[in-house]
Amino acid sequence: MSYVADKNRYQEMKYNRCGKSGLLLPAITLGLWHNFGDENSLANVKEMLFGAFDMGITHFDLANNYGPSAGSAESNFGEVMRTDLKPYRDELVISTKAGYGMWEGPYGDGGSKKYLISSLDQSLKRMNLDYVDIFYHHRRDPETPMEETVEALKSILDQGKALYVGISNYNAEDTRTMIKLMKEAGVRCLIHQMFYNMLERHNEKVIDVLEQEQVGAIAFSPLAQGRLTNKYFNGIPADSRAAGTSPFLNKEGITDELLKKTKALNDLAESRGQSLSQMALAWTLRGHVTSVIIGASKLSQIKENVGAIQKLDFTAEELQAIDKILLG
Ligand code: NDP
Repeated sequence: MSYVADKNRYQEMKYNRCGKSGLLLPAITLGLWHNFGDENSLANVKEMLFGAFDMGITHFDLANNYGPSAGSAESNFGEVMRTDLKPYRDELVISTKAGYGMWEGPYGDGGSKKYLISSLDQSLKRMNLDYVDIFYHHRRDPETPMEETVEALKSILDQGKALYVGISNYNAEDTRTMIKLMKEAGVRCLIHQMFYNMLERHNEKVIDVLEQEQVGAIAFSPLAQGRLTNKYFNGIPADSRAAGTSPFLNKEGITDELLKKTKALNDLAESRGQSLSQMALAWTLRGHVTSVIIGASKLSQIKENVGAIQKLDFTAEELQAIDKILLG
């Protein structure tokens, strides 16, 4: 029997306006970078997607290269779209991206019109969709004139293959330039997706630009890939990302210094009546940030993380205490 969504799914989640647009995004978005590819069980993929939607997570974030193998997170998502989520299409905001290496030869990487348009066509086929809600240029490509990338994004909008477009991983200066070029071409930059969490704050400069320009801000890896949770306090669990084959986090990333700091943060979180992951998400959601994109390997993690919205406010003393632990 196919999935039937929980009728209470809109009762708990908080929805934030994305910059100066008509679009609301859930404070918590689910990303499909790890754990949704063809090395993972489709049953677990379904459990996480359905469980997330049942908690009001209406936004799913993908990219052409998510897997492994590249493309397989979109294919799995497309399969679930076909079998179960089709009736809910208009309740979902589905995003994908292109910008990093995806296929061989000179046209499967970067920021050219040739790459972005053909990549989105491939993504739509894999996901069984007529359009995505948000299409991102995944990274600034210094070899491609920004004007050409803007032309590609405009063409995608004009063809109805995406409802909104955004950028990701652009630095503050390039963000400002890109937003200006997009405006001149009559294209709204809906959102910027950037790396941001309590441990990685260098993109605060980008967030300042977005606030000035009234463009939405969505933070990826808000838990620093799991390092801002209590999961590594008693060693490295065999089923964790740090123990696996991800090139982005390994055992060396779990240092004694990190654990000392995260244990102190955990005590502070407990005094707020939250878990460390919940406090880390609440911290990232301050100010101009529209939504945080969490990853997960199990539904129980998503459930815990959604609990962050129960306590989003911080006292000045709590913020100072966090900075003292992390910055000294
Ligand atoms: P997070 O920082 O949220 O890390 C997610 C990982 O943390 C999970 O896979 C899990 O790891 C662990 N975790 C999550 N919740 C808990 C919990 N409550 N308790 C214990 N462990 C927990 O995000 P990701 O790094 O996964 O990135 C999220 C999304 O951001 C991606 O899916 C993607 O959509 C987007 N992204 C975009 C990028 C870009 O360039 N635009 C780059 C990177 C990400 P474990 O597997 O060990 O259980």
